[in-house]
Amino acid sequence: SQLDSYAVLGQPIMHSKSPRIHRLFAEQTGQHLSYSAEEVAPEEFRAVVADFFANGGKGLNCTVPLKELAWAYAEYTSERARLSKAVNTLSVHTDGKIFGDNTDGVGLITDLKDNHHLQLSGLNVLILGAGGATRGIVAPILAEQPKQLVIANRTVAKAMQLADDFKTEGTLAACGLEQLTNQAFDLIINATSASLSQDLPALPDSVLATNGVCYDLAYANQATPFVQWGHEHGARHSLDGLGMLVEQAAEAFFIWRGVRPDTQPVIELLNAERAAL
Ligand code: NDP
Repeated sequence: SQLDSYAVLGQPIMHSKSPRIHRLFAEQTGQHLSYSAEEVAPEEFRAVVADFFANGGKGLNCTVPLKELAWAYAEYTSERARLSKAVNTLSVHTDGKIFGDNTDGVGLITDLKDNHHLQLSGLNVLILGAGGATRGIVAPILAEQPKQLVIANRTVAKAMQLADDFKTEGTLAACGLEQLTNQAFDLIINATSASLSQDLPALPDSVLATNGVCYDLAYANQATPFVQWGHEHGARHSLDGLGMLVEQAAEAFFIWRGVRPDTQPVIELLNAERAAL
């Protein structure tokens, strides 16, 4: 019989680590499947996805800039995907309908809690940015009961809108980056795309609390500008999004295969490989 097939769609997609991660999971758990990467422009998305599933494909990951389109495509979604209005994992449900989920938020929380032993309850948490990634992580963070969650964005109106959309999930405040002058945060999450262009959101030095933690959702072979900023400002940990990437993949793998891979050896391998570059 044919191998169950999976893929990640995005634009650009060439440097995606998802095929590698899912093949390592499959090898580790003894699952037989194929996983490829395909460059797909937004205007081709619907046709490509329909074709993939019509040909017996089992599941898709969707990344930038396709997550909102995947959310619209799904015939039904999880509660966390509904809240974020973004889907990174599509699968065929038992009734043949296409199910959409968003595993980014749980990926971040699992990385923080299980891999870095950081509990969010009682912490003052700051998210930088108000785009799709922020939409995916707000509700999962609020569920951990931080003392406070502030969303700061270059374009204030977008942060305000987002805080308004999530107000039923918990207490949220929104502001502009320049308003971050009189408070220090225990955890600062960079959910802007600034790192992708070697840029850094404009931040006052005082914004990180003593022993605070910095977390950049972006990841690269070298320390991102925000990870570097964290080191320079005395962060206890200054982490990038590689752990989140592996954890969101593990959650997708579980949705598709019903088996939970061990993420630790995969994170260690990917970290060792980039340290050797
Ligand atoms: P979006 O394009 O939806 O949002 C971008 C956000 O970044 C906006 O709020 C924008 O502000 C802000 N921004 C961009 N450049 C700057 C800058 N120079 N200074 C200040 N703010 C800036 O992107 P996404 O939300 O989809 O992705 C954000 C990041 O998260 C990406 O780096 C992505 O790779 C990463 N990510 C990582 C994952 C993982 O598994 N590790 C999962 C998902 C995302 P404005 O509104 O003012 O334009």
